[in-house]
Amino acid sequence: SEARQRQAEAILRESEEKYRTKTDIEQLEQLEQQKNVFLGVVSHELKTPVTSAQAFSEVLEQRFRRAGDEKNAVLLGKIRVQMNKLTLLIRDLLDLSRFDAGKLQFHEESFPFDALVDDIIEEVQSTTTTHHIQGEGETSATIFGDREHIGQVLTNLLTNAVKYSPDATKVIVTISHTQHEVMLCVQDFGIGIARDRLPHVFERFFRETGAQEETFPGLGLGLYIAAEFIRQQCGTIWATSDKGSGSTFCFRLPLQRARSDHP
Ligand code: ADP
Repeated sequence: SEARQRQAEAILRESEEKYRTKTDIEQLEQLEQQKNVFLGVVSHELKTPVTSAQAFSEVLEQRFRRAGDEKNAVLLGKIRVQMNKLTLLIRDLLDLSRFDAGKLQFHEESFPFDALVDDIIEEVQSTTTTHHIQGEGETSATIFGDREHIGQVLTNLLTNAVKYSPDATKVIVTISHTQHEVMLCVQDFGIGIARDRLPHVFERFFRETGAQEETFPGLGLGLYIAAEFIRQQCGTIWATSDKGSGSTFCFRLPLQRARSDHP
């Protein structure tokens, strides 16, 4: 009976251990949830003032330019570019918290793909004086999906292409379509990505670390979000690269699909 008693004690200890682990996990889950709520609230609170400051700096820039005050227009242009970076960062953070809270909303519609691409190229072009973003190829395809999310994917790819090619002057965007899908590629002539790191670029928080951290600041969210959006729009996204000579990021999206196609 002494053996049985020892066995009972062991079982009791084990179940106590299990119980403790469970509450630890529960606590972690609660912390995780609090972190997400915090992230959501903070990025939302940041968004409003930054958006309006950005709008004001744009208006002022135009005023100075119209008045022929190029010197001040250039200064305000620099403010606009920095505000734009901040806006994109906040957008990525907000999306991250929405992913985690399962609160991401879709607004799906039919729209011409090339018009969206032109809009985004123009937008990103207005934030760089060092690079020329060159549009190539054409498509008259209409796609059905979330215009804003797809635009955001392109914005993220383009801002990366500019950011990770500091010595280059050109970024090429190529669009094409087949009977069932559109394809878009963003090619840059920058630092590239080592072959063994390439499979990881779409992971959350993935960043090339080390000495480059200061030259290329970022959160490691842009490509993760891009991949999530493309996946949710039933498309595919991939990258090819040669370290030192540049990268190409491409995605494919179906032209039309049923509304219930969501994963
Ligand atoms: P971030 O740019 O904020 O670090 P991303 O998710 O956009 O986050 O990119 C993840 C990582 O992938 C980057 O840190 C960088 O190392 C690499 N990367 C992304 N785009 C390019 C590119 N066009 N050229 C070279 N490396 C890139």
